Amino acid sequence: MNTSTATFLRSAPDLASCPDDDQPEFAFAGRSNVGKSSLLNMLVRQRDLARVSATPGHTKHLNFFDINRRWRLVDMPGYGYAKVAKAEKTNFNAAVAAYLVDRPNLACVFTLIDSSIPPQDIDLEFVEFLVDNEVPFVLVFTKIDKVVEARSEENIGLFTARLAEWTANPPLVIKCSAHERKGRNALLKVIDEALEPEQKRPQAAKTPAKRKTPW
Ligand code: GDP
Repeated sequence: MNTSTATFLRSAPDLASCPDDDQPEFAFAGRSNVGKSSLLNMLVRQRDLARVSATPGHTKHLNFFDINRRWRLVDMPGYGYAKVAKAEKTNFNAAVAAYLVDRPNLACVFTLIDSSIPPQDIDLEFVEFLVDNEVPFVLVFTKIDKVVEARSEENIGLFTARLAEWTANPPLVIKCSAHERKGRNALLKVIDEALEPEQKRPQAAKTPAKRKTPW
């Protein structure tokens, strides 16, 4: 897929400010510092894209980009800022939650997880929210170059094992390195297949299951 025509559309602070829901949307979410900007730049081969999202006033918004006038890339605000004021954090979470649950044209959430560190509760909680609300998602493990393969595989295995405790349908897993430019084709394949009506949509956890153990 050619992603050369990525155009900034809008920065939305809440669901009501989002563009019309007339194009399929692929959202990218993850803890701040997970490597989202690097991955998005690799995906669209356009440095400006992540820079727009990083400009003042945009970092806590949903940032929409038109790709080929066929689909939209939605850069979601990074979660897990330790220093955000409580009221602000609640507001930010509410806007993201409303988008994830109520956006009819949301095709898939690419949920980015850092493969160089063990599972983090904040990531598991985000994924639990997606499962509980039947939001289609895939897991994208970033920075696979950062540690030896055995270590990243161990971290990925631990994360998916935690998920398996409370969901029957394991999500699709994609491994990426923006530094080594790995995983781009796998990401584009998910998008291509979702845009192709006769083909299968990304495998999502469709049957929410209550987790058995508290985190
Ligand atoms: P964001 O905050 O999620 O947008 O993350 P950034 O893309 O800004 O990356 C955060 C840090 O992780 C930076 O220091 C990047 O250089 C580093 N990083 C991002 N992607 C990779 C990767 O694929 N491999 C490694 N080793 N580091 C990465």
